[in-house]
Amino acid sequence: MKTAREQCEASNTLKNAGLSQTSHRKRILHILIHADTPLSVSDILRQLDQERKMNKVTVYRILSSFKSEGIIREIPTDHGVNRYEMACQHNPVHPHVYCRICRTMTCMPPITLSQVWDLFAAPSDFRIDNINVSITGLCRTCQRK
Ligand SMILES: [Zn+2]
Ligand SMILES: [Zn+2]
Ligand SMILES: [Zn+2]
Repeated sequence: MKTAREQCEASNTLKNAGLSQTSHRKRILHILIHADTPLSVSDILRQLDQERKMNKVTVYRILSSFKSEGIIREIPTDHGVNRYEMACQHNPVHPHVYCRICRTMTCMPPITLSQVWDLFAAPSDFRIDNINVSITGLCRTCQRK
């Protein structure tokens, strides 16, 4: 859940993470920063400019570097295609709902840390840096079919 005004900027995010500013990295990060829902690799490829065609392997490699620097979160789905979203201050950890027919994924409001503790009762010496809560079902459109 992001507000339009408060957003990260691709170059600064790369700089803070200590990653070099390649045009491919900037382009992919820009797409993720402006996305309303978590994106799959195919979603990202679809949004890339035609003239700057990138192959799938490049996109995966860049996403994995973002992931290991904690810039983005990876959200698994039940059919094995992971989705990605920003893991920045503007996009705190939150659950997702996923439609198993049309495969749309929607972000839910963030949950507070105390709610997280209640949910998972994690050991107190455990530092959480990612939580995946996945709720699967049918979206409004697919329920009518
Ligand atoms: Zn941000
Ligand atoms: Zn659906
Ligand atoms: Zn989300």
